[in-house]
Amino acid sequence: MENLKPLFDFETGERPLVLAGPCSAESEQQVMEAAVALASAGIKVFRAGVWKPRTKPGGFEGIGSPALKWLAKVKKETGMLIATEVANERHTREALEEGVDVLWIGARTSANPFAVQEIADVLADLPPERLDSLAVLVKNPVNPDIELWIGAMQRIYGAGVRRLGAIHRGFSSYGKHLYRNLPEWRIPIELHRRFPQLPIICDPSHIGGRRELIAPLSQQSLDMNFNGLIIESHCHPDEALSDKDQQITPEALAYILETLVIPSQTSTTESLGLLRNQIDRLDDELLELLAKRMRVSRDIGRYKKEHNMPVLQPGRYNALMQQRVDNAVKLELNEDFVRNILASIHEESVRQQLELVSKS
Ligand code: PEP
Ligand code: MN
Repeated sequence: MENLKPLFDFETGERPLVLAGPCSAESEQQVMEAAVALASAGIKVFRAGVWKPRTKPGGFEGIGSPALKWLAKVKKETGMLIATEVANERHTREALEEGVDVLWIGARTSANPFAVQEIADVLADLPPERLDSLAVLVKNPVNPDIELWIGAMQRIYGAGVRRLGAIHRGFSSYGKHLYRNLPEWRIPIELHRRFPQLPIICDPSHIGGRRELIAPLSQQSLDMNFNGLIIESHCHPDEALSDKDQQITPEALAYILETLVIPSQTSTTESLGLLRNQIDRLDDELLELLAKRMRVSRDIGRYKKEHNMPVLQPGRYNALMQQRVDNAVKLELNEDFVRNILASIHEESVRQQLELVSKS
């Protein structure tokens, strides 16, 4: 995934990209009302679900194909680009026929390589100009599996899509939590480390599941350098047929977007540079210290071997751990953090000593 293009030609990279619109397209009137309000709030990409994957049967499963006409009308009357979710070959063909500009692959679909490949095969057959202008966003799979997420994007990239992006929408988990879907930020951060050119859009609506979490989650994602946001917006959220607890009005959305602090991309100030130099030096020192500690551990290993002593001495380990943790807390270090580091250093010492002992 190396030759990516910007998702949209209008992008300047200065402000985060924002896609907004209702969870579902419910009626022509609801769609048009939201679209007009969002367009006047400066939104350039309108989202709405036409086919809705519901956990259980009996809920509102989307209007289906007829709703695509309403999206086409949004594009015609407001000039916004239009985005919808596709989960199979038929959805993809129908959405493309109606002129949808942005397809997204939902979290339940990106977990299924058969479905993603089916979509990719439709895209691979598009004429080059259509493929060139089409943007595809791939939501993370519901389960926290970064390889599955990457694999889904590779299938779409393999079909020739170059306007490709990832959407971080959180991961499902058992039981009740603050978030509807746990953010597990380290996963999108790792994705960014592996594919620095790939735009990542945060979906605070599906992560939070609640209106009041949209603003803080959006800010957090911008602080972590995400490229944009996809936010569910409905003119009458309490009456929404799906995801009503997490939808906000276009006015609330405009207010949130105005109050977000956009981190500066260009100015790495001099003092930040100096602080980073200090971190570089400290990390070098940490590594040297660790190497020194392992050398001493190996000396101890040799001594234990000569004197026929066991490598593991649990009594000593427990006492040592508690004493270190107490000291660390006095230094204002987090207890769990220190415990994890010490446990992992100890594990490596034991591994090295066992290696010595087993060598004759
Ligand atoms: C949606 O965006 O409305 C949606 C169904 O999202 P997800 O696939 O993230 O659950
Ligand atoms: Mn939704």
